[in-house]
Amino acid sequence: MLIESYDLKIEVSDHSAEVFEYEAIAHLPVDVREVLPYLNATLKSGTYYTDGPVFSWRLNDHKVGFWYDRIAADHLDSRDQAKEVIDHLVKIVNDIWDKREEIEPDTVTHKNLQPLELYRLLPKTNCKLCGESSCFNFGLKLAAGMTELKECRPLFEDITLTDNLKQLEFLLSTKRPLL
Ligand code: SF4
Repeated sequence: MLIESYDLKIEVSDHSAEVFEYEAIAHLPVDVREVLPYLNATLKSGTYYTDGPVFSWRLNDHKVGFWYDRIAADHLDSRDQAKEVIDHLVKIVNDIWDKREEIEPDTVTHKNLQPLELYRLLPKTNCKLCGESSCFNFGLKLAAGMTELKECRPLFEDITLTDNLKQLEFLLSTKRPLL
């Protein structure tokens, strides 16, 4: 097991004057930088930055950061939830580290898909053939990985949209879903 213990600090967040919430930092007794590329390879919606290094991720509503010496999470309702979330994150790190022999580490900083960059390449006719009420909603779902490009039939049938289709396919194959 990589992380056997940690020193937990829980503080009231000053991010919002309207909502009372906590943020938590688990200070680690071991250097975990080696696990970060394995997190990047496994937790596909996160982003790895060599500067730091840090792996930034989202767990439900919580923004999460994994550094070499600490793990942090925000938007926590209570101290109990803070402990629960941090325990869960530590378990994720330990589980991935235990399976590292089966994982190809990834040190690339993958960018996330942005709904607007997808929307601007869609037909923008709001024909609803994809089952969505508008092209914008389709773009939102596409960016979140909740639908597939093939659901937009006009893109494949209208030859004036061939370039757009290629650009969309490129974006979807090189960027990660936005959670
Ligand atoms: S099928 Fe394509 S063009 Fe029609 S609403 Fe959906 S995204 Fe827009």
